[in-house]
Amino acid sequence: MTAAWTIDAVRGSLAAKKVSAQELAADFYKRIGERNSELNAYLTLSEERAYRQAARMDALVAAGKPLPSLAGVPIAIKDVISTRGVRTTCGSKILENYVPPYDATAVERLEAAGAVILGKTNCDEFAMGSSNENSAYGAVRNPEATDRVPGGSSGGSAAAVAAGLAVASLGTDTGGSIRQPGSFCGIPAMMGSYGRVSRYGLIAFASSLDRIGPFATNTRDVAAILGVIAGRDSNDSTSTTAPVPDYRAAMEKPVKGLVVGIPKEYFAEGMDDGVRKKIEAGIELLKKLGCELREIQMAHTDYAIATYYIIATAEASSNLARYDGVRYGLRVEDDSLLAMYRKTRGAGFGAEVKRRIVLGTYVLSAGYYNAYYLKGQKVRALIAQDFRDAFRKVDVLVTPTSPVPPFRLGERTNDPLQMYLADIYTVTGSLAGVPGISVPCGKICGKLPVGLQIFGPAFGEATVLQLAHAFEQAGGGSL
Ligand code: GLN
Repeated sequence: MTAAWTIDAVRGSLAAKKVSAQELAADFYKRIGERNSELNAYLTLSEERAYRQAARMDALVAAGKPLPSLAGVPIAIKDVISTRGVRTTCGSKILENYVPPYDATAVERLEAAGAVILGKTNCDEFAMGSSNENSAYGAVRNPEATDRVPGGSSGGSAAAVAAGLAVASLGTDTGGSIRQPGSFCGIPAMMGSYGRVSRYGLIAFASSLDRIGPFATNTRDVAAILGVIAGRDSNDSTSTTAPVPDYRAAMEKPVKGLVVGIPKEYFAEGMDDGVRKKIEAGIELLKKLGCELREIQMAHTDYAIATYYIIATAEASSNLARYDGVRYGLRVEDDSLLAMYRKTRGAGFGAEVKRRIVLGTYVLSAGYYNAYYLKGQKVRALIAQDFRDAFRKVDVLVTPTSPVPPFRLGERTNDPLQMYLADIYTVTGSLAGVPGISVPCGKICGKLPVGLQIFGPAFGEATVLQLAHAFEQAGGGSL
């Protein structure tokens, strides 16, 4: 990796006038210029906006004014998150030329904290996928192993940070799309509790599951970004009023005595041997750190994938109805209104998005609603109950993030079910609304990254970060 800048290093260097924010932005754009044609991590660069913000930060330094917490930090934004004046495609042809008239709250908060938004990152179309191969703008390569996928759907955000083309990035997670690409690219990646970060300006896939969260090269930077974007937003009624703790301070607490639950359902068959060995070594390390390990049961785990693909597709079919050729993006003209709808949506959406719209419309249709959607909601409640029960006995849960290491490009594209199974360990926490992080847990054969997933109770982000930080500091990343 190129010289790994951290948030503290950026701020420190700016304050000491060793580098200016504009020079730093230029340096990152140079690296992007060198590496992006191979990786395809960025879809759009927002140079004008970045340099304007960098100049603002340089003016603060020149005037001797205090620097905000993310001053000059180059950050990339997943292309499903709205950026005012900067094209936002959702990885779809249907929004190829869409330029949002406003910023997502998370983006606005990052800029208010001094961050420099470098550009928009590639992703699976409307965040539907686990490999980034569903993007209308081509696949992304995993910087750690360029014949492999970076994971998805936030593949571009993960690859950009792992390749040193941004200090941090925002992704979104509906069923695993932050944690799994974090795991595949060997960097920490976190989703806060549902409601922890405002969804305002996040272009919806499945509204009851979608969450925005950070990728960075280390857990302290993950904590810093989460702290900036978290908190109540009057534009999102599902965002919580719960106060935002100082995550960076909280994560320094010792983990000795922390009770770590190991759900045995997550270690059943189907897991790659190399992944299993690394995760077992990771759990050993937690023991050495003084954590108390406890095996527990989460009885409804097996139903999570099926439940997720009913609820997520149902919500997607409704959310994506707005792309009708009238209000947003692409319009393919025809004689009648119906023909215009059909041609627009036929040409604008890719195969996976169409598959999900059809599935979601089916599970919501009269006659099937009770058998699928309503049943799915009931099972979702049972899965959430599993988590609540578990957190009465343990402080955190530890599992693998993904059952397999990064796979080869093209290896799973013809088998949607295989692709859906990539999320088997992540969708549970999505359905339950709890926070989760993936932290690096070594590499198979020194090459393919493995991620350890830590779940905490709702709004227990500080505990999740505390354990992730201790694990990282103890060398979990090089197991
Ligand atoms: N891979 C899962 C899906 O395809 C999750 C995607 C996500 O979290 N956005 O739906």
